[in-house]
Amino acid sequence: MDYQDLNIWSKRAADWARDYHLNLRNQPVRAQTKIGDTAAKLPPIAPENPEPMEQIFADFEAMVPGATTHWQHPRFFAYFPANASPASMLAEQLANAIAGQAMLWETAPAANEIEAVMINWLRDALGLPDTFTGTIHDSATTTTLSAILTMRERALAWRGNKQGLSALPRIRLYASGETHSSIDKSARIAGIGQENLVKIPTDNTHAMRIDALEAAILADRQAGYMPAGVIACVGGTSIGASDNIKETIEIAHKHGLTVHVDAAWAGSAMICPEFRHLWAGIENADSIVFNPHKWLGAQFDCAIQFLRNPKDQINTLGSRPTYLTTLDQDDVVNYNEWTVPLGRRFRALKLWFTLRAYGLSGLRQRIRNHVAWAQMACDAIAKIPGVQITTPPALSLFTFRLNESDAQTETLLRRINKDGRIYLTQTRHKGAFVIRMQVGQFDCTLDDVMMAPKVIAELVKTAK
Ligand code: PLP
Repeated sequence: MDYQDLNIWSKRAADWARDYHLNLRNQPVRAQTKIGDTAAKLPPIAPENPEPMEQIFADFEAMVPGATTHWQHPRFFAYFPANASPASMLAEQLANAIAGQAMLWETAPAANEIEAVMINWLRDALGLPDTFTGTIHDSATTTTLSAILTMRERALAWRGNKQGLSALPRIRLYASGETHSSIDKSARIAGIGQENLVKIPTDNTHAMRIDALEAAILADRQAGYMPAGVIACVGGTSIGASDNIKETIEIAHKHGLTVHVDAAWAGSAMICPEFRHLWAGIENADSIVFNPHKWLGAQFDCAIQFLRNPKDQINTLGSRPTYLTTLDQDDVVNYNEWTVPLGRRFRALKLWFTLRAYGLSGLRQRIRNHVAWAQMACDAIAKIPGVQITTPPALSLFTFRLNESDAQTETLLRRINKDGRIYLTQTRHKGAFVIRMQVGQFDCTLDDVMMAPKVIAELVKTAK
């Protein structure tokens, strides 16, 4: 295949994509395939000679959609959404066509400048003060890793980067057990160690206890550790828990620690002023991550980090060998110095397209619908005999279980996902196995959402 044929195959792919999305409702949400089915259909070695595109495309159609869990299915209620607006898909096609690499301003001026403007648009849309700047990463995990590396180096006066950690005081970080496992992973790979990520107990609202946080910082300092930072969550993955951001930041700053707020999922909802109470006090955070690729329609991958002072992160992650300097361009921002990888995709384009194609009002309406519909689904599920709501909706996420036992709840979940009309996943809350349901697919309707109580009511009868 060459560029001459790109339009033919792009058109074919676009037609396929349109039909795929318009017919998704008729497909089971979760792949119903068995382990090894797809691999068994592939030859064990790469082809020696070129194959016709017609055959390649036909094999794609025959093998891939049927063995795919459909994240854009309107009845995908599992995990968190990775929703993708059609405008964002189009932007990705264009970014793919350019196939550039936005590591430096010079290597992609439009990409870098659109990125800077998108950060400002989103900052304002989320109600953050203009003291924040920021950048786009691939995922919340690498964003949090960047923030944690910066916490470590700031506390060590950048000695860790120079000497390595072995002869330096042990860094301590603080978070509640409701924060996502990416915080644990980041602490591990930042060389801080799981044991030095202190899990602070939560109160009856599932927020980190501020008195316990302060006591832990003081005790650690007394014991010779080096407290460096706090990771707070807004909309935790398990049940949607949020920390008390204002007080967490006050205590952290009082003791010289910085605060990174993980709002990977819930951050998108902050385009609606009525939800901003969930992160009251956010204006004093040092770093914030939210994923437009979760709930705002800018498809995976797209994680935004807002920073109050990017200098510390640039000092931690930045590196400028001669082969990465650009002549006569000292004043430009080169975002690779803010992030872990050097290479960067043109992610800002899908934000630009999405924000323009739906407008903030359109995006707000979707999120408001999701939150309202999650409450309606929760109310209906609560009425099913034998079902108990274990945590009420936090924005559009709630959990439930069968009264009798973990085992029966697990059986119910298996049946739901085998049935295929909806897709749900599980978590553990206060020791119990519970089923999570979140509403957030870009184009889901109230009917799609209310299919969940219908399916659950039907299958509960057979789960017992
Ligand atoms: N933080 C929270 C609250 C999440 O829910 C998730 C993923 O679901 C992450 C972080 C990690 O996100 P990513 O896949 O962008 O690394």
